[in-house]
Amino acid sequence: MRTKTALIHGGKTTDPLTGAVTPPIYQTSTYKQDGIGKLREGYEYSRSANPTRTALETLIADIEGGARGFAFGSGMAAVSTVLMLLKSGDHVIVGSDVYGGTYRVFNRVFQSRGLEATFVDTSDEQAVRDAIQANTKMIYVETPTNPLLNVTDLRAMRAVADEANVLLVVDNTFMTPYFQNPIELGADYVLHSATKYLGGHSDVVAGLVVARTEELGEDLAFLQNSVGAVLGPQDSFLVVRGIKTLAVRMEAIEANALAIVKTLQSNPAVSRILHPSVAAESAKQVHLSQARGFGGMIAFDVGSAEAAEQVVASTKYFTLAESLGAVESLISVPARMTHASIPAERRQELGITDGLVRISVGLEDVEDLIEDLESALAVVDSIKL
Ligand SMILES: *Cc1c(COP(=O)(O)O)cnc(C)c1O
Repeated sequence: MRTKTALIHGGKTTDPLTGAVTPPIYQTSTYKQDGIGKLREGYEYSRSANPTRTALETLIADIEGGARGFAFGSGMAAVSTVLMLLKSGDHVIVGSDVYGGTYRVFNRVFQSRGLEATFVDTSDEQAVRDAIQANTKMIYVETPTNPLLNVTDLRAMRAVADEANVLLVVDNTFMTPYFQNPIELGADYVLHSATKYLGGHSDVVAGLVVARTEELGEDLAFLQNSVGAVLGPQDSFLVVRGIKTLAVRMEAIEANALAIVKTLQSNPAVSRILHPSVAAESAKQVHLSQARGFGGMIAFDVGSAEAAEQVVASTKYFTLAESLGAVESLISVPARMTHASIPAERRQELGITDGLVRISVGLEDVEDLIEDLESALAVVDSIKL
């Protein structure tokens, strides 16, 4: 089954009982047993399993090409449950510019409970190799990263993970399974904030994980049930519905994004544009070797915190909001919003400057989006003069 077909026909999303083509919302916490331990279809209690959640979990496993899928109450619940695969005293190599919430959960939740983490620029394979310690158990990466759109070579990460015999975990939120399939490239676990492109409509908070093998799946299934940060049936339904249109949304979002990159390139108020399509040649080649598209996230620098604030206050179709990946275009200033939990000094080191503006391109008419950005950027020009 090809990807576009799998988005519609993958998993077990049709109801076997009635033939309903969408998964019914099984709003139930428990299930009648036909005698002690005699379960129908294996359902016992909805923390352990719920048919609507199963529909989503089988679907994401199919489209990511893994053995088992898991749905959680948020992307961070998914990240946290994956980190619980590790124990106090274990060491993780983490991409240096991962999502701000991921940085925070490593730094302020798991490190204080005995997990060691080293933040490394994972676009540098040798730096990752050099960071391996005797107690290293996991390499955790995003590609491209948020908001700097740095590219990490996933095949190279697999090679390092094999040398050290550690797990490779990839957050695939930005690319989605439509553009990139990390399991094919060697990831052991792939995770998503389904709040973003998979849900796609700014109406649900959810997280997903796919395990490469049954065995890796068993480890996570135990934690999902024990820790219990599961996704409810209504929200599972919404994510299944979102995934069905992922292909058309990603194609249209990318076309809009490429047109916007082009106009930003000729705008005098913009000093730096970050999008995989305009990355340095070597990074672009790595990206193209592992992904089928460039995606809809763009960041650009307007020079100062003041200018960035003016721009986000001036757009009318780009809504000032956190989050990304929805039908509506969003705009934000990472240093003061999504990445505010990263200390200022560290943000500077990473290149998350105060003037950096991030946009998540949506499905509006691209001419409206371009006009909107151009008039907002004209305000910056007048500040400079
Ligand atoms: C948003 C996001 C997360 C966290 O997901 P939530 O659903 O907000 O908990 C993790 N990783 C990336 C790349 C994200 O963009």
